[in-house]
Amino acid sequence: MDGIFIDYYDPLFGVVFFFLVIFVASFLTYSYNLYKEKNARSEYKELLGRFGIGNLDEQDYVHLYKTYNLPFDSILLLASSFVYKGDYNKSISIYLTLLEHVQDKVKKEELLELLGTTYFKGGFLKRSVEIFLKLLEFSPRNTKALKYLLLCYEKLKEWDNALDVLESLRELKCDTNEEYTYIVLQKLISDPLLTYEKKTEQVLSIYDVAPHTARIISQYLITYNKPLFWKYVIKLDILNIIDLLWYMDFNDIDFEVVKSNDLLEQIFSAKGYISYNDKATNIVDLDILALLCKENKGLRSRVDLGFEFICKSCKRIHPMYESRCPHCHSILSLGVKPKLIKRMMIEENISLQ
Ligand SMILES: [Zn+2]
Repeated sequence: MDGIFIDYYDPLFGVVFFFLVIFVASFLTYSYNLYKEKNARSEYKELLGRFGIGNLDEQDYVHLYKTYNLPFDSILLLASSFVYKGDYNKSISIYLTLLEHVQDKVKKEELLELLGTTYFKGGFLKRSVEIFLKLLEFSPRNTKALKYLLLCYEKLKEWDNALDVLESLRELKCDTNEEYTYIVLQKLISDPLLTYEKKTEQVLSIYDVAPHTARIISQYLITYNKPLFWKYVIKLDILNIIDLLWYMDFNDIDFEVVKSNDLLEQIFSAKGYISYNDKATNIVDLDILALLCKENKGLRSRVDLGFEFICKSCKRIHPMYESRCPHCHSILSLGVKPKLIKRMMIEENISLQ
C-alpha cells in the first residue's frame, strides 16, 4: 500500500490530505455533538418547563432516570414532592412506573419502602401491607418495613398479625415493650369470646403493671362500666384523661367521688356542675374558668375549656387524641393540655350555679 501511495502522490499532498481528513472528521464530530447537546438542552428545558407547572408524567421520570442519568435520589426527591402536597396517587403512580424500569436491588428496595409508606399515608392500608410483606420477602431484617407493617396491622385492628410483627422486631433487638402491652390490651378488649367480667379483671390487671395504659383503660371503663370507672378514677392519671371527664354526661358523674378529690372537684366546678370551692390546681386555665363560674358568669358563658394533645417524644401538638403520635408514631405518647378557648356554641345545657 505504501509503495502505491508514494508512486502516485506527492508526499506533501499526502500529509496535507491526512490533516484535512482529521480536520473534517473533528469538525463533523464537533458539529454533531453540538447539535446533540442543543437538542438535549431544548428537550431538558421543555421537561423542566413542564415540571414547573407540575405536568411531568410518569414516563418523564423514567426518561430523567434512563436518558439524562439524573441521580436516582434526585428523581425520588422530585416524586416525593407530591407526597408533601398530599397528592399520594401521583407519587404512587411514579414509584410504580419506576419500579418497572429499575433493576438494582437496593434501588428497588428504596422504591418499595417509599411506595409502602405513601400507601400508608394515603390510607391505603391493605396495599401498604402487601408492599411491606413483599419487601420483607427479600429483606427480612428491614426494621422500617416491620414498623410500618405494625402500624398498618394496628390501624386494621389485626392484633394477631401485629403480635407476629412484634416478635420479629424483638428478634432484631428492637424495644417493643410498650407496643406489646398496648396490643395485648387492645386484643383483650376486642375479644368477643371472653365474658365481660373476665375481660374487665384482665384489663385492670394490665393497668396495675402498665400505668401508661391509663387512658385506654379509662375509655374501656367509661364505655362498658361507668360505676367501675368512678371506683378506679382516683387511681388513674386524672390529668391525662381530663378531656374524657370534661365531656362526660352530667348523669354519668358520681359526685360523691368528685368531692373526694380536689382536681376532680375543680374540673366539675369549672364545668359549672358543682359550686366553686376554691380548690386551686396548677392548671391555670382550669382555675380561671372555675373562678369565672363564681365571679363573672357572663364572661364564663363566652369561654370554655378546649384541649390539645402534645407528644412527649416529638413535642408536636395535635388537635385530637390518638394512641400513636401521627407525626413520630410513638405509642401512647400524647399528653392532654387544657386551654381556655372562645365558646363556639351559643347555647349549652349547662346550669351555671
Ligand atoms: Zn410524636
